[in-house]
Amino acid sequence: MAVTGARTFRNFVGGEWVDAAAGQTFESRSPATGELVGVFPKSGADDVDRAVDAAYSAFEEWRLVPAPRRGEILFRFGQLLADHKEDVSQLMTREMGKVIAEARGDVQEAIDMSFYMAGEGRRLFGQTTPSELRDKFNMSVRMPIGVVGVITPWNFPIAIPSWKILPALVCGNTVVFKPANDTPLLGERFVELLVEAGVPAGVVNVVHGYGSDVGDRMVRHPGVPIVTLTGSRETGVAVLKAAAEGLKRVHLELGGKNAIIVMEDADVDLAVEGIVWSAFGTSGQRCTAASRVIAHERVYDEVQSRLVEAAERMRLGPGWEPDTDVGPVINRRALEKIHSYTEIGRDEGARLLTGGEVASGNGLSDGFFYRPTIFGDVEAGMRIAQEEIFGPTTALIRVRDLDEAIRVANGVPYGLSSSIFTRDVNRAFRAMRDLDTGITYVNAGTIGAEVHLPFGGTKETGNGHREAGQAALDVFTEWKSIYVDYSGRLQKAQIDTAT
Ligand code: NAD
Repeated sequence: MAVTGARTFRNFVGGEWVDAAAGQTFESRSPATGELVGVFPKSGADDVDRAVDAAYSAFEEWRLVPAPRRGEILFRFGQLLADHKEDVSQLMTREMGKVIAEARGDVQEAIDMSFYMAGEGRRLFGQTTPSELRDKFNMSVRMPIGVVGVITPWNFPIAIPSWKILPALVCGNTVVFKPANDTPLLGERFVELLVEAGVPAGVVNVVHGYGSDVGDRMVRHPGVPIVTLTGSRETGVAVLKAAAEGLKRVHLELGGKNAIIVMEDADVDLAVEGIVWSAFGTSGQRCTAASRVIAHERVYDEVQSRLVEAAERMRLGPGWEPDTDVGPVINRRALEKIHSYTEIGRDEGARLLTGGEVASGNGLSDGFFYRPTIFGDVEAGMRIAQEEIFGPTTALIRVRDLDEAIRVANGVPYGLSSSIFTRDVNRAFRAMRDLDTGITYVNAGTIGAEVHLPFGGTKETGNGHREAGQAALDVFTEWKSIYVDYSGRLQKAQIDTAT
């Protein structure tokens, strides 16, 4: 494992590495071992204000840099990230805990996004349209918005910043970035590579710290017209409220309570493999994690016993050990929350089939490890089947037919990802139409998004926007419609009837 030593890090403002104004710090520690990873500035409102000033000044020039040139910087960033894929992945395993193969996937997603958004530098398409009047030219163009406040979670500490910062930049915006306080080192590394790729001073700024100080100030700052947040529902509501006074643009990607449906005609081997990967991958700490399995009554028992068997075979350990299947959860608070849901499930009368406990011993006691947990005989309305747990816990629900399966799948406040395992094309198409989620998989688990398609969810998973693909451009630009009249006289739309 690459070891960096527990260095003290700084904010990055206007092209300079600087301490927080108040001189306070916080620590980042490995969730697997408790080892100190780094010490970071605990910033406050003054630090945010300086970063916004720097980003605001840089915007005047950056918006005028031709978009293809901006795209070339992103392309170099993608190449640098590819060169550093292994060391960044090792850092991720150490600071955030996910197993090394998944850490590499996280970095790869950012590489993919870099190249995709670099290409946008030569597209950023608008429209040209006919005019209803003679000698008049109509078009729509994308305009940058200004300083983008970027607030990210810890669970995809390289991929998620890339989904936000790269489209924001190629569109001509500048950025103030607050990485999650559980993964500040990865946020730092992301920006170091952007700077190495040639992003000019002030175009990207990093302010480390907590949501209640740094995040809240970013959202309320009058110089920040748009905020993009990925986080919990609770934080999304707080950010929306704080942004309302300034009528800001707010882009939210929030929680999920994703379901995998297994029909009686499914390939059960494939379904079980998909469920294990979706429920326990990243220790269940994915917004798209499968925390519900909705199985047809004819295959329910088989799915249940196979899943329990698979979960009990999984090896817990630090993510950098090659035979680890399940790494730690992010921190003690998460561990306690996950365990509290085990107790809630028991109290509600669900049957705990396996797991349900903190894992200790065998080198696990210094970290935050929770055994893969499966509840059977879960009723669709139980809290464990309704609320986001964000840990390695999944709930099995028995249904009689596809209608009931879809009703149960849709019967939650969230709408991020869904999946159906079936060999029947008619059922697959019905599920594709009727599952009320932003993403649906057929014969695959609930995870595995690709960067050129829109990513996000319906209902309380967000507020109607999408990340990634072309949809991301709509978040980070304003449309401007332009009319050029070259007739040399005053023509009046809707009034003159030109022929
Ligand atoms: P969180 O809401 O606790 O924190 C997210 C970020 O918001 C952090 O940087 C935090 O410091 C900041 N923050 C907290 N309070 C704030 C406030 N009042 N004002 C401004 N910023 C504030 O979430 P988390 O624990 O880091 O991440 C897990 C959550 O993220 C889960 O709910 C998960 O489903 C969600 N998530 C969603 C997606 C998606 O694309 N839909 C992807 C990944 C994670």
